[in-house]
Amino acid sequence: MITRSLRIALLTLLLLAGLFLAMHLAGQRAERQALRDESDHAREQLSLYSGNLRALIDRFRALPAVLALDPEIRSLLRSAVDNQQQHLLNLKLERMNRAAGSTTLELLDRTGLAVAASNWRLPTSYVGHNYGFRPYFSETRAKGSGRFYGVGVVSGIPGYFLASAVQGDAGEFLGAMVVKLEFPELEQEWAQRSDLILVSDARGVVFIANQPGWRYRELQPISAEHRAEMAATRQYDKQPLAPLIHRTLTTLGDGSRLARVDGPGGTADYLWESLPLPSEGWTLHLLRTPQGAASSARAASLAAGGAWLALFFLGLFLHQRWRLARIRQRSREELERLVEQRTADLRAAQDGLIQAAKLAALGQMSAALAHEINQPLTALQMHLASLRLMLDNGQLEQARKALGRHDELLRRMAALTGHLKTYARKTPGGLRECVELGGVVDKSLQLLAPNLRDARVRISQALSVPAWVSGDAIRLEQVLVNLLRNALDALADQPDPQLWINLRREGDAWHLDVADNGGGIAEADLPQVFDPFFTTKPAGAGLGIGLAVSYAIVHELGGTLKAANRGAGAVFSLCLPVDKTREETP
Ligand code: ADP
Repeated sequence: MITRSLRIALLTLLLLAGLFLAMHLAGQRAERQALRDESDHAREQLSLYSGNLRALIDRFRALPAVLALDPEIRSLLRSAVDNQQQHLLNLKLERMNRAAGSTTLELLDRTGLAVAASNWRLPTSYVGHNYGFRPYFSETRAKGSGRFYGVGVVSGIPGYFLASAVQGDAGEFLGAMVVKLEFPELEQEWAQRSDLILVSDARGVVFIANQPGWRYRELQPISAEHRAEMAATRQYDKQPLAPLIHRTLTTLGDGSRLARVDGPGGTADYLWESLPLPSEGWTLHLLRTPQGAASSARAASLAAGGAWLALFFLGLFLHQRWRLARIRQRSREELERLVEQRTADLRAAQDGLIQAAKLAALGQMSAALAHEINQPLTALQMHLASLRLMLDNGQLEQARKALGRHDELLRRMAALTGHLKTYARKTPGGLRECVELGGVVDKSLQLLAPNLRDARVRISQALSVPAWVSGDAIRLEQVLVNLLRNALDALADQPDPQLWINLRREGDAWHLDVADNGGGIAEADLPQVFDPFFTTKPAGAGLGIGLAVSYAIVHELGGTLKAANRGAGAVFSLCLPVDKTREETP
């Protein structure tokens, strides 16, 4: 079981770890992408610079070979050159140099001695110096042409030497024609760039740089053998070489990296692009301070952090909602289960109650029936005994009279069973016909006419006829007779007994009120008067099923029967729906 505080701690840890990871990864990715974009850009620039340099060299590449074919030069080099010839050659080279636009032109004899040079007028003139130790000379002697970048031994100015052999008619080596190129314009132009531009030779020594302090730096360690060779050829002559310490931070691609460089201005990170120049064996470098990488990395990591937070809280929110919904669902199910269980319990209890009520009703009925039937039976028994005595004594006339009383007792028992039969015949959908309620009232009053007359009851009628209802005329009469008989019972001791019968229509129903001034029903009895076997009459006078049967009949016909007290007596209201079929076809 995970406790609440542990869960919160875990969530916080997840939040922080995710935040850190998202920011870090996004930052790194964005930085790399920005560096890559910058690197692409720098690379384009670098190839532009390399093009410039190559174009410059290419302009002079063929020059020494062309000059070496000059017949005058060739013939003069066949033998030793005297002063006059030298002067002529100096002038010629000076002219050619001016025309070609090269830095210096010089002519070496077969030993490497400079017999003539375009700069013969200057104090730094090459004339008279031997350059046999320079590699371009030995290369030219061996292969016909040579090239070399080095610092001028006399001038101290670095330059690119391109040489071509001067050959005799038989192809023998007579000497070398040499062009020296310096790149002041190029370096000047490059110096205006904000990027650092370097050119290194095959051994990794920087010999061209557009910013001070970067020239004559070794990009990689130089072996002792190479160092000795460089001393022998006096390539960088008196220039001291110092290593340039640099370390790759990230490799971005072929010839492209992020490097930390301990340069002349201090340590700094550079985007370092390198492009080889295969024709000369050099390498061009472009070093640029990365500009947008850091800021785009920051922006990306902030965005990623924000996105992670949003996602995290959204996830948390959705999880919480899901949990709430689950809890709600569970409690709903629990509630439904409880309701079902309670309903089942209630139904069981109800069934039990009904059963108990049925048994109670059965008991009540049995008791009442036993009482009702016992009385006439006992009376009959006694009467039969006295009848036998009378017959024994030959009192025939008296016996006949006594038999009349037997009739009455039997009629009473028959009436009782008749009542019960009605109650039992509670079949739904009995006889249904169009019945006129006014007629039912008349018939019932006729049936009870002798009793009403004997009791001297005043009857007031207000009947709005015809009042058509759907039902069974005989049973409706039974209901009305019941109501009238009860009223008569209630009026038994009244000095001025009165009955009111009122029939009226209210909406879609007929209302028939039977009221008396017989004292009414006790308030406490009102709710029970329709219960079977409820009676307030002395034993033998009432069975208590008249109203219950009436109630059942009226309900079966879709109506209602209600009891209330009004004035000095009770009022029973019978209400039945109007029979529409009869109304529509009068
Ligand atoms: P019974 O007439 O056999 O008692 P009923 O079901 O017809 O059975 O009536 C039940 C009881 O309702 C009567 O005992 C009486 O207390 C009461 N009751 C019925 N009609 C009237 C009435 N018009 N006035 C007063 N009480 C009445």
